[in-house]
Amino acid sequence: MASSSQKSTQYFPGLRKVIRQFWPQVYQEKTLLSVAIVGLVIEVFARLLSPWPLKLIFDYVLLPNAHNADLDIPFLRDAAPGVLILILTLSIIGVAALSAMSAYISLVSLSIAASRIISDIRSQLYGHLQRLSLAFHYQAKSGDLLTRITSDIDRLRDVIVNHALPLLINLFTLVSMVGVMFWMDWELALIALAVLPIFMVSSLSITQRIRTVAQRQRRRESAMAATAAESIGAIKVVQALSLEGVLEQMFTHDNRKSQEESARTQQFSAGLKRTAEILVAVATALVLWRGVYLVQLGKASPGDLIVFITYLKTAFKPTRELAKQMAKISRGIVSAERIIDVLNVEPEVRNTKGAISAPSFHGAIQFENVSFAYHDHQTTLQNLSFEVKPGQRVALVGPSGSGKSTLVSLLLRLYDPDSGCISIDGQDLRQYRLDSLRNQMSIVLQDSILFGTSIRDNIAYGALGATDAEVKRAAKLANAHEFIMALPDGYKTLMSERGVTLSGGQRQRIAIARAAIRKAPIVILDEPTVGLDNKSEQAVIQALKRLTRDSTTLLITHDLSVSKDFDQILYIEAGQLLEQGTHEELMQRGQHYAALYQLQSAVCTNHVPPLPTLTP
Ligand code: ATP
Repeated sequence: MASSSQKSTQYFPGLRKVIRQFWPQVYQEKTLLSVAIVGLVIEVFARLLSPWPLKLIFDYVLLPNAHNADLDIPFLRDAAPGVLILILTLSIIGVAALSAMSAYISLVSLSIAASRIISDIRSQLYGHLQRLSLAFHYQAKSGDLLTRITSDIDRLRDVIVNHALPLLINLFTLVSMVGVMFWMDWELALIALAVLPIFMVSSLSITQRIRTVAQRQRRRESAMAATAAESIGAIKVVQALSLEGVLEQMFTHDNRKSQEESARTQQFSAGLKRTAEILVAVATALVLWRGVYLVQLGKASPGDLIVFITYLKTAFKPTRELAKQMAKISRGIVSAERIIDVLNVEPEVRNTKGAISAPSFHGAIQFENVSFAYHDHQTTLQNLSFEVKPGQRVALVGPSGSGKSTLVSLLLRLYDPDSGCISIDGQDLRQYRLDSLRNQMSIVLQDSILFGTSIRDNIAYGALGATDAEVKRAAKLANAHEFIMALPDGYKTLMSERGVTLSGGQRQRIAIARAAIRKAPIVILDEPTVGLDNKSEQAVIQALKRLTRDSTTLLITHDLSVSKDFDQILYIEAGQLLEQGTHEELMQRGQHYAALYQLQSAVCTNHVPPLPTLTP
């Protein structure tokens, strides 16, 4: 036999999961929630009391002869009729005031508790998203994640405050009114409740359908947000390829579907509400039919009938609302599950047990038989082994897609190798805490991302807590100080999204300043000069020279004239380290590297002016 909690979880299949997941946050707000529950109990008590003054007026003032029992409430028993009426009418106001006050207290305390719980969950979700591995983020759609962190969270808050509390009040009211009805007259109570099973069965099936449609709608809304985020993020490409029409069509299609699904959930909710209304009418008619007969027999008083009818209306009104609330709560659970789905994703790369804070690195790097695959079926790096001494400058060269950026990602521990070991200063990377490892590496990418904040903060992100003087020093090192000072607001200039107001070279120099302020012993440069014109390239190269002066440097480049004077060149092809040595050594070998170099030299002398080198 299913227990009641099993039944409730069948009713809301995700409810147990949601409660279990967020229990710690809920427990933290136990004081406010207890106040809300006490308020709730008082409100239900006031609701129970509300028809009783009317009953007493009917039975002992208006129709004293319609039944044969005496008023057995001590302080009212001997009251004069005028006083009795006064007390009973005043008590109607008193009960209403008690109900209003307790409802106010429980709503306010629940709202505060819910806001705290929700903002806690939102922060937890945001923090978790930041820690999830790149593998997750490459698969997830940013628009979808944004929907989860914004509208799903908002919906959850709305459900807790506006629907969960009333639902609880309604359930308590229903249960206690049924109890009082049975205490007063079990036969009338049974008649009144005869329709309840029909209501339960119909609401179960409709709520399930609402849940399914709501899930589909949320998925679609997320997809729409993802499409919008992607197309707005790549607006230049969209306009250049004239994709506006196609994307608009896709968006409109999803938008229409989402609107249809929303209409369907409304339709189901409305159907449920109307079913409840008809069932209340049936129950009222049945109670009246039997109740009048019992009053005529003298087995019940007219006041009893009033209490019954009022309870029926009051108990079934919540039941009607119950339908609406269950529909809302179903949708809220869908949102909560979407949040939980993300929270339950384990970061693939995380601090291992017993990881230590990395000491200051000397910068010795070693790869030993490292293999890695993004997907099971395709190996990206195969059995890579090499060593880099502290302060060495190493160039990673090779055809596009050969695995150079992947190698660097492994060094940053954005991914862990499938086999083999990567170590810095003789210790496996996995023995260091992630933040202490990454804090000692600076990185400059081909297309540096700048955040939508001031230039100063963009540079300071490299070393949190950096002073203005340090920011300025880093900017000077990066050849960026002069152009920053020429901007109207200098270091306070706000970057628009992705820093589009600056030229490519200027953005790179800010990124170099951000890398420089870290004073990291290991510097990673991933094609930092690609796409720059000659003048910008010169400025960036100068900045890079200063940045890498005292660090172990790994440079990914396709431009072999840049890497020519490096201490070591690693030639990677199809995930394998095919050659390793200085430029001279590799040229003497006369194999892959030499062939590529000669090809590039031929192209350069024929078509392009010679490229500058990166020697200090
Ligand atoms: P390029 O010189 O063009 O930047 P690369 O040598 O740096 O190329 P990687 O970016 O490391 O090469 O890519 C190596 C292989 O791994 C490629 O086949 C690429 O398609 C694949 N790859 C890269 N990133 C991912 C990813 N996030 N998920 C799946 N496959 C990936």
